[in-house]
Amino acid sequence: MNVRTRFAPSPTGLLHVGGARTALFCWLFARRHGGTFVLRIEDTDRERSTQASIDAIVDGLQWLGLDADEGPWYQTDRLALYREHVERLLREDKAYLCYCSKEEIEAMRAAKRARGEKPRYDGRCRRRTGSPPAGVDPVVRFKNPAGGTVVFDDLVRGTVAFDNRELDDLVIVRGDGMPTYNFGVVVDDLDMDVSHVIRGDDHVMNTPRQLNIIAALGASPPRYAHLPMILGADGQRLSKRHGAVGVMQFRDDGYLPEALLNQLVRLGWSHGDQEIFSREEMIARFDVADVNRAPAAFDYDKLGWLNQHYIRQAGPERLGVLLAGQLERMGIDVASAVTPSSIAEIQRDRARTIVEMAEQSRFAFEDYGDFDAGAAKKHLRPVALEPLEAVREKLCAIAKWEPALLHAAVIECAEALSLNLGKVAQPLRVALTGTAVSPAIEFTLQMVGRDTALSRIDRAIAYVRDRSRQS
Ligand code: GLU
Repeated sequence: MNVRTRFAPSPTGLLHVGGARTALFCWLFARRHGGTFVLRIEDTDRERSTQASIDAIVDGLQWLGLDADEGPWYQTDRLALYREHVERLLREDKAYLCYCSKEEIEAMRAAKRARGEKPRYDGRCRRRTGSPPAGVDPVVRFKNPAGGTVVFDDLVRGTVAFDNRELDDLVIVRGDGMPTYNFGVVVDDLDMDVSHVIRGDDHVMNTPRQLNIIAALGASPPRYAHLPMILGADGQRLSKRHGAVGVMQFRDDGYLPEALLNQLVRLGWSHGDQEIFSREEMIARFDVADVNRAPAAFDYDKLGWLNQHYIRQAGPERLGVLLAGQLERMGIDVASAVTPSSIAEIQRDRARTIVEMAEQSRFAFEDYGDFDAGAAKKHLRPVALEPLEAVREKLCAIAKWEPALLHAAVIECAEALSLNLGKVAQPLRVALTGTAVSPAIEFTLQMVGRDTALSRIDRAIAYVRDRSRQS
């Protein structure tokens, strides 16, 4: 079978985690079977569709590397095709014009509710006779079969059956001539030869309606796979409260795309207890038939862990570019003696995100303000004066500012003063970074560079002297 999947977002907001997971599964399934992945923008809701949202979707997919083989196709470019199909349904008496006003429908629904019935449209315009009311743009309704069941074999959920009496004659074309979601999807899935519709399970209720329209058009339906919903770690449906933001926000928060992809692929799918999947492994192992029915939880701790893994794996050049980009976003000038890639190399094991890495590295690019109060109180005491002066002298005399020599200098200094290493390294660290936490002291020295290191030690010496005088 020629596998063709499609991702069909409505451009009414950002590309969120749920949409990105759908896109990933569609993409993986197509790649796995040597098929085609189509991107279709469902933009017929003109009031809610925006170019900004289209851009966000396209950027998000590109960042994740989910390249489409066809598209983006836009539904608003395909209106003639929907018209052709709706005319055919009207001609064949499988659809009809409905002139009911909003008020009329509301009154009908209210009456049904009052009788304890489901507030479904009663199909009154099926039987309308005489000339239509003037000045009303009719909608087109599909003649849903009155009885029987619609059954389909969902690749995730198994057999799903709906009673046709649950479904009313749905509007397929609005008064302004725009197709509704269910109609546009059907026409496009058929026209684009989609073999597998993979989408969120919030659409499962739409599937029987779509199947009825497909049958009315005399076509055979694609296979369906409805993906389980995504929950936050607290078991509630994933929402903004859980940080369920647009995909590009993850980039801005310092995540690598492969970490997010890896997290997304595990939302409802697993392969034994394997946690880490390269793109190639995902393609080789993924099968939509292995997707679970149970809701999946989006876990930020796991994402941080995965991100750390991929940061460790990334080459220094790439990390350097990412780090430099982040520092620039923070308004930090990266034109310094030390290149971002060498800093990324030093910091790669310490940071869970690029943002964290940048925060932990800013001391290398700009002067810090005040010493961290706790660190200064603990480490810049009068007893620190001698080690700071001694280490300054040693560092001053060093021939080459490189880690092995820097390390030796600090050790020698501690030995000469009969102090343990921390008694030298910690005051020095606070002098260099303003805080008590940084990479190994020789790397911290390397990150800061010679001249800045010496002048920051001077600043700390002055601070300790001042403090000694006051005490
Ligand atoms: N446009 C629909 C949405 O964004 C998806 C349609 C589908 O996958 O069938 O929810």
